Amino acid sequence: MKTILEYREQFRKGEMSPFDLLESCLDRIDPSLNAYITVTEELARKGLKKDTEGKLKGIPVAIKDNINIKGVSTTCASNVLKGFIPPYSATVIERIEKSGGIFTGKTNLDEFGMGSSTERSCYGPTKNPFDPTKVPGGSSGGSAVAVAMGSAVISLGSDTGGSVRQPASYCGLVGLKPTYGRVSRYGLVAFGSSLDQIGIIGRNAEDVEIMLEVIAGYDPKDSTSSKKEVENYSDLSKPFKNIKIGLPEEYFKQIDSEVHSSVMEIKKALEKEGISFKSVSLPTTDYIIPTYQVVSYAEASSNLARYDGVRYGLRKTGRDFRDTIRKSRDEGFLPEVKRRILVGTFVLSSEAIAEYYERADLIRKLITLEFNEVFKDVDCLLTPGTPTPAFPIGERTDDPIRMHVPDRLTAGANLAGIPAVVAPAGMVGKLPVGYQLMGKHFDEKKLLSIVKLVENIVPFKGFLNEV
Ligand code: GLN
Repeated sequence: MKTILEYREQFRKGEMSPFDLLESCLDRIDPSLNAYITVTEELARKGLKKDTEGKLKGIPVAIKDNINIKGVSTTCASNVLKGFIPPYSATVIERIEKSGGIFTGKTNLDEFGMGSSTERSCYGPTKNPFDPTKVPGGSSGGSAVAVAMGSAVISLGSDTGGSVRQPASYCGLVGLKPTYGRVSRYGLVAFGSSLDQIGIIGRNAEDVEIMLEVIAGYDPKDSTSSKKEVENYSDLSKPFKNIKIGLPEEYFKQIDSEVHSSVMEIKKALEKEGISFKSVSLPTTDYIIPTYQVVSYAEASSNLARYDGVRYGLRKTGRDFRDTIRKSRDEGFLPEVKRRILVGTFVLSSEAIAEYYERADLIRKLITLEFNEVFKDVDCLLTPGTPTPAFPIGERTDDPIRMHVPDRLTAGANLAGIPAVVAPAGMVGKLPVGYQLMGKHFDEKKLLSIVKLVENIVPFKGFLNEV
């Protein structure tokens, strides 16, 4: 498996040109997997002609279609945004361009990021390249498949409750959700603003570190972005020593036995390297899904109020102004998004806010306190990335509760704003499964260095196409 640094070395030595790399990436797009909503080959070729130098020089990057690239349509996989062309780029896009990165296209997602499977898209489901009858995970499934099939070296997704990490788990990749505020959200279409973070999906920890160095850091256009200095994530001249990892017992319940044993293999391998483990408890874990649902639906109902048939995309003209809004929203949104807008509006209504939203907000604080408490004793936490390997397409589309099940392992990190990474733990049959590390705020470097260690001692053998 080649890394960003290896590609750049090949470019330098003249063994491969960035144009060759781009062409082989584009050749690898398998349309039957439906990973892309828009392929931007012209934009990518143009990007290669610019003489920008930087850490991502000539590296093809795929972008989830809820992150704006100026002049390229942003759909969020929703009919409501059909025809919308953003007049500006997200901060992350500008930073990648400045570092010489190029864009292969905009990738498929669950409408507005609401899902765990990339099936709820107005462009149809994305399929898992390891087994096309299975989902790739969601909602950033297109971004994961774009990398897994070799059409991009690395990609960006967004993670509100696990949407970068779940597809990484099901597609054998490394998926990082940074600390809330580490990466600017300017130009990311909002779902749950207090939970959303742009995340990275790559084939290895080093590539993810390089991308994080490029996109992280303060942005005056996002008031929630942190002024904390960006570390040199890929510099491991001072390796971490005496690491203690916690195993939260609640995260090992309700998961497949094969997933359990794959994560235990990772633990054993790390123990041999001198890392110690300790069983810990996070009793609020069972409240993660309901809390996440109330908070994220409430924020979504408010964020999605802007799609009124007037300012963006689709307009269905009705009898009068109100009827136009009603018709545009009715035809623009798919059922799951409507369901969430209804529930979100209800939990914020005067008769329900105290019982639902305010209680959820309180439990969110308890969840955060509990994480902070265990982090006094351990450096980070090891858990499964998802409770099972990828599930069959169609299995959960009519069952919103079952669709939310994997969020139990991932959404806690969003509620608490802490960083979390999922990386390959092994294969169950022909499907990959991932392990997850969650850490203290701004401890991305430590998490990624542990993933690197795992890559060295138990290399993942499941990679599909190699560019
Ligand atoms: N699966 C979660 C949901 O359905 C998470 C989505 C996300 O992180 N965008 O809301």
